[in-house]
Parts: sequence; C-alpha cells; structure tokens
Amino acid sequence: MPRSPPVLLAAALLLAACSRSGADDDRAQSARVKVFPASSASAGAPLLEAQARHVAGLRQKIARLRGNYTVVLDPPFVIVGDGGESAVRSVAATTVRWTRDKLKQDFFAEDPTSTVDVWLFKDAGSYQAHVRALTAKKPTTPYGYYSPEDAALYMNIATGGGTLVHELVHPFVRANFPGCPPWLDEGLGSLYEQAGERDGHIVGFTNWRLRGLQQALRDGRVPPFAALTAMDAQAFYGAGRGVHYAAARYLLYYLQERGLLVRYYRAAHEGHAEDPTGYQTLVRTLGEEDMGAFERRWAELVLGLSFP
Ligand SMILES: [Zn+2]
Repeated sequence: MPRSPPVLLAAALLLAACSRSGADDDRAQSARVKVFPASSASAGAPLLEAQARHVAGLRQKIARLRGNYTVVLDPPFVIVGDGGESAVRSVAATTVRWTRDKLKQDFFAEDPTSTVDVWLFKDAGSYQAHVRALTAKKPTTPYGYYSPEDAALYMNIATGGGTLVHELVHPFVRANFPGCPPWLDEGLGSLYEQAGERDGHIVGFTNWRLRGLQQALRDGRVPPFAALTAMDAQAFYGAGRGVHYAAARYLLYYLQERGLLVRYYRAAHEGHAEDPTGYQTLVRTLGEEDMGAFERRWAELVLGLSFP
C-alpha cells in the first residue's frame, strides 16, 4: 500500500506542535482531513450543501481519531480512510465504485436512502482503536462489518477488499429488499467476497468458505434448504453460522452458474409477501420436483469444486 504523501506527514507534525487555541485547532483539523467531492475531482472543489453538512459531521468524528484522513464523496457512499490519499482514492475509484455499479446493474434499483460512510482503516491497530472510538464497541470481527444503525461500514482494509465487497451488498439489500431473509442477504454478500466480471456482469468465484462447507457436507452438518431459508436472524447467526453462510453462498453460486441468480433474486423480491423465506420461489426457479434429490446433486457438485 502506498505510504502517506509527505504533505500529510507534515500536517501531522504541525498538529502535534500546534497550540490549543480554537483557531489553531480548526486549522490543524482541516490539515488532517482532505476532501474530494468525487473520485475524479480535485480537493477543494465546492460541495453541495448536504454534502458539506455531512463532511462537517465527519470532521467532528475524525477529531476524536488519530492520523490523517482522506474523504471521497461518491454517492451514496462517503469513503473515509487513514491509509494515505492515493490508497484511499484508489479503493474508492476501483472497489467501491465497481461494486456499486455492478450490483445496481443486476440487482438494485434504489440507492440507500441515507449516505453510508465507508471507513477504511489502514491496519488492525487503527481498525480496533478507531471503531471503539467511533462506536464505543469492540469489533466482533477482525475484517470489517456493516452497521445499519450508524449507516456505516467499518473495515480493516489491510485484510483485502473481499470483505468490503461483501459489506457493500448489505446497505443495498436493506434499501431495496426490506425483510430479505438472512440467508439471501448473507448469501449474496458472501458470494461477492471473491468476485470478478463475466460478460460485463458481476460474478462470484469459489473462495475460502468452500473447504468448511465440504467438510460440513461430509459430516452431514448442512441443514436442508427448507430449514436454511426459514432461519430467522437468531438462528442464522447462531450456532453453525459459518456453515449457514457457506451453504447460502454456494446455493447462490449454483444459481449463478446456471444463469438463474438474477432471475431468482428478482422473483424472491417480488414474491416476498407470499413466500417470505424464498424457498417456494427457489423450488420454482430450479424447476425441481424432488428437492431432496436436488440437494444431493448440489452436494456432489460442491464437493467437486476447488479453491484456489
Ligand atoms: Zn454479511
């Protein structure tokens, strides 16, 4: 990852040296935060009023943190990071923008209704300390997570972009598919942890969740799809959640490889009132008479996949 430009280092030294008067605090604070209206624009370009208000709120939060921050406004997201200007702008212009555009292309008509802050902390130390400073809570995952209450993603970006893509799915699901069952929400997020393009569309590839799922299949620990899809949040995120995530991911992966995923997602969304778990829609989309037989075929297929 590129190092912080010298100007930001100089700003840090200035901050350390400056006195406690209000005017100096303001100057030091603006030296610590560089704002880019969009990933193509330069710092210092004028902001819309709502954006300016949002940035002012972010500056107050950043005042409680250590380091120098780059802020990139790219609606519906604001990307905020302490990993140096070029690194933060690069993640904003590549991972965040690509994910947003590709997800909207196939799945989501609506943007999240409020701006979502995407915090990119440069390493584990920054992530742990700053999430605690911002939320008064200790993160329960070393990679990063989405907080709907805060309209924010908190990421340890040193662990790679896969989790970031996963978490970017959630605010879109929340905005477009209220009441989406946990298996489908997490299945989509997990599917795109390892993602690329095929014919201009986003696709998920096999990933690290495969091995655990293959073991669970051999051990008979994978719930039938009727049970998996019917899980509420407590059940899905409870005991065995690693297997739940992986089974949901590779069920959607199967649909994707059959060219059925987008059609399934749309049908599940449209039919949600009559079929809240999405299971009946799944059976219909697959065109399967015997789901037990289908699940055995799916298990065989999963056991034959490989990663990497
Ligand atoms: Zn998730």
